[in-house]
Parts: sequence; structure tokens; C-alpha cells
Amino acid sequence: MLGMHSDPDISWAKAWHKLIPSKVSCLVWRLFQNRVATKDNLSRRGVIGQGSLQCVGECGVEEESASHLFFECPVFAGVWYRICKWLGVSTVFHNEGLSHLEQFEGLTGIGRVFVDRVSVIWFASIWCIWKARNDKVFKNKEVHIDKIIESVKILSWNWLKFKASNLEYNMAHWCLNPRVYLGCPVYI
Ligand SMILES: [Zn+2]
Repeated sequence: MLGMHSDPDISWAKAWHKLIPSKVSCLVWRLFQNRVATKDNLSRRGVIGQGSLQCVGECGVEEESASHLFFECPVFAGVWYRICKWLGVSTVFHNEGLSHLEQFEGLTGIGRVFVDRVSVIWFASIWCIWKARNDKVFKNKEVHIDKIIESVKILSWNWLKFKASNLEYNMAHWCLNPRVYLGCPVYI
């Protein structure tokens, strides 16, 4: 499994988050199992040739793997730096799916409600990175980190808003100061 050897029970429970659409949970589950259709995996299955494995982020990396795309690529994985800045924290992340999620959950607070909410941002980030990557591969759309970040904020807001209760402020507040809604201290 090439470094993605997470405990199946834990990764299953983590992937099927109650606030997250099932198509996104599916992607995350595949990520935990190293079964996302990245170029290295497609090549191993004989779907694409050895000659076309380069990361579409044009970062110069010769082989697109899930850990590269989602957690290491200076282009796509730059999302995490920006998301941390938005949340008012800084850290150096793991490059493996489940450890990365668990680290993200512990970033700015503790407690079940907080973990449920902050991990929604993590799922949205994974989804938006994958979407931006596919838009580049299949539609030749340029990768714009600002657009990815914007999508993460909107998606995470929508997922939290539609299913969580007691939401008393709007998306503009969310984009400006997510910490208030996440339930962590505003000043650190
Ligand atoms: Zn890359």
C-alpha cells in the first residue's frame, strides 16, 4: 500500500463523517487505502503508460502519487498552508492521509463538536484539491490556489450549514473568522 497502511476500522469510521456527502467520503476512503486514481496507481494497473506520470501541478515531480498530490505538491498541497493561515494556526503536516486528518483535527481545539466541525474543512480541502487536479487533467483548466481556497470555504460552509444546528451567522462571517464557529478561542 505504499506507505498508506492505515487501520481499516479507524479509517472507515473517519471517512464516513456524518456531515460529509458520500461521494466525498468515498474519495477519502480511497485515499486512506491508496486507491485514488492518481497516475502512479493508474500506471500500476496498466491504464496509462510509464511516460505520462508527471504531476499536473507542473512542479517538476516525475510521478504523481496521492501523497504527493494531496500533501506534498508545492502547487496543490499549498492549500494546507493557506487553510492553516485562515484558521490562524501553523504546523508541518504528515504526508499520509489518516495521520494528516488526525493532525488537522487537533490543530486548534479539543472536543467532539470541534473535531466534527474542523474536519469538515479537511474533507472540503481534499475534495477541492482533487477537483482542481481533474479540471487540469481533463479540461486543461489552470490551477488557481485562490479559487481552491474559495471553494473550500464555500463547501465547508454549506456542509456545516445544512446539517449542523444552531448556526447563527452567515458565510461572510465564516470566511472572515471561522474560529468563532468552530468553537475555538478567537485569539491565540
Ligand atoms: Zn506536484
